[in-house]
Amino acid sequence: MNLKAVVLCGLTCVLGLLAPALHASPSSADASFPVFEVSAQTPGRIDVDTRMGMLTDSTRTLTPDQVMSPKQTWQTITRKSPNFGFTEDAYWFRFQIDNLASQDLARFVELPIPFLDDVQLYHYTAGQLKTSYALGDEKPFAQRVLRHQNFVMPLNLAPGANLIYIRLASSGTIEAPFRIWDPTQFYETNGNEKLLQGMVIGILLIMIVYNLFVYFSTRDINYLFYIGFVASYLLFHLTLNGYTFAYAWPNAVRWNSFAISTFMASAELFTCLFADGFLRLSKFSRPAHYLTRALATVSALLLALTFVLPYSLTVRVGAALTIPIALTALALGYWRWWRGAKFARFYCLAWTTVLISLCVLNASKFGLIPSNAWTHNASQIGIVLLVLLLSFTLADRINHDRMLRVNAQAVALGHERWARASQEALIKTKEDANRELEQRVTARTNDLNRTLGQLKLANDQLQRLSNMDGLTQIGNRAFFDRALALEHRRADRQKSPLSLIMIDVDHFKLVNDSYGHMGGDACLRAVAHLLQPRIQRVGDVLARYGGEEFVILLVNSNQQDSVALAEGFRADIEQLHVPFEGGTIHVTASFGVACGIPDQYLSPQELLAHADKALYQAKHDGRNCVRSVATINRVS
Ligand code: GH3
Ligand code: MG
Ligand code: MG
Repeated sequence: MNLKAVVLCGLTCVLGLLAPALHASPSSADASFPVFEVSAQTPGRIDVDTRMGMLTDSTRTLTPDQVMSPKQTWQTITRKSPNFGFTEDAYWFRFQIDNLASQDLARFVELPIPFLDDVQLYHYTAGQLKTSYALGDEKPFAQRVLRHQNFVMPLNLAPGANLIYIRLASSGTIEAPFRIWDPTQFYETNGNEKLLQGMVIGILLIMIVYNLFVYFSTRDINYLFYIGFVASYLLFHLTLNGYTFAYAWPNAVRWNSFAISTFMASAELFTCLFADGFLRLSKFSRPAHYLTRALATVSALLLALTFVLPYSLTVRVGAALTIPIALTALALGYWRWWRGAKFARFYCLAWTTVLISLCVLNASKFGLIPSNAWTHNASQIGIVLLVLLLSFTLADRINHDRMLRVNAQAVALGHERWARASQEALIKTKEDANRELEQRVTARTNDLNRTLGQLKLANDQLQRLSNMDGLTQIGNRAFFDRALALEHRRADRQKSPLSLIMIDVDHFKLVNDSYGHMGGDACLRAVAHLLQPRIQRVGDVLARYGGEEFVILLVNSNQQDSVALAEGFRADIEQLHVPFEGGTIHVTASFGVACGIPDQYLSPQELLAHADKALYQAKHDGRNCVRSVATINRVS
């Protein structure tokens, strides 16, 4: 079978390059054997191509003897390619090789389609079966006559006519491009082909390893999809061409019988995943994303089913699936590119290249363009280009993303700078505002403090004025009353004596009458100034009690001391000469002394009343004298 042909057919049909059907079709009956003449000088390789008789065995039961029966109707093949597609029939082919030499000639018959379930060859010479082979990929590889990925059957051609009958049957497609080789030429060509295959395998392996390293550094999942695709394709390619069966799992007949489906499905799965991830379809278009995801799901399901369902079914589904997947992957790439995603251009180029290479291969296969080494290896060239371009595509996108990131970073940096500058300006404005506010607050505080100071001064002055007598500049009566109440409470607590001296200037009316009111005032100031320096003990108070009356409060002073002090004051006033209008005024004063330890029976008023009473007594006794009231002598 040949899957490539199926895939190619689908793709090329889609492109409209090839209209004709692919399957070979039998033509008119021809009973003759096509004949190939070989001698020592004949070309090393003869392509049998369609030059052979063909017999379709729909029952798959015909034996060689039945096939050789003259009753059978053999047909010629008119198509250039002996390709029969998926078929349940068995096919018999026959051709004749005439050995023109006089001795046996060694030749190989090669069928370069490794995927055939059953290959039987019967070699008759002179009516006798000389050689027969029963090969096929359902038998362990060890049974092959030659260790080669293709079916290679050595023949020893006897001189004269050699009849070759070959039976092919398979659950996959059937293709029969037989070649007759001179062994020397075969090995030479085979070496070259293996070199080419080795190069392709080498390139793909390098790309797998390289991109695996890139994945480890970038952690971009698309690299894994890419690697999955390349690995799947590589294994698909190697399995399709028989290399894996020949070299990797020669005894795993069962696995080998469906491995091609498995690798095809996994290649399809990774193609879908790669397209979805690489083209970022989830962000670009929901329907496109769901479409690729649906195709990926179908591929994944198929991948699992290849292990369970018959190969003939899974390989058909898988081959059919390549068409929508390839078309979708390519169309979405172009759509994405058309809508401005520059990174999709190499993706499109990669898939277009592989598609063109497949078309070239197909076109050459069907004779639309001349066949040469390039067209022969178009699929290999195509896949190498695909793998290289896809790898480049990934690198290009990383570069594209990096540019976007760099640009975004530059924009972000610009924004950040702007934001920082704004912030700094804001902070500066705020600082200026704060500084100004602070200055204003300080100024206001200073104003307030100044005002408060002035207010305090004014208050103090007011206090002083309210406590002071304007004329004499000593305490007034209100001041005295408060001091008396305070000291009375203190003396009461301490049980200490408190004395009061009431002073009244004698005949003051007369002074006024004689010297005028100004003269009287001068006398009052003189008496105050005389007394004031002598009343300096803490707690002692001198005040003008009213008119020409003064009062002295003495704390912690007994009556005797107080009377003595009053006596001293009296004597001093008597000696006082008040200067007035060039002359002097002479005054005397009378003193009333009261003393007691304050308690509930001796209130400030009572103390005053006692002092007043003593003063009255002094007046009564002739003035200019000191009297104390007898009733409060108890503390003396
Ligand atoms: P006595 O010896 O009995 O105390 O006689 P006196 O004249 O001093 O008694 P009186 O209380 O009758 O007179 C007091 C006089 O003091 C009456 C009043 O005109 C005078 N006086 C009261 N206050 C002042 C004052 O502030 N200045 C002057 N110049 N005279 C005053
Ligand atoms: Mg008086
Ligand atoms: Mg008087």
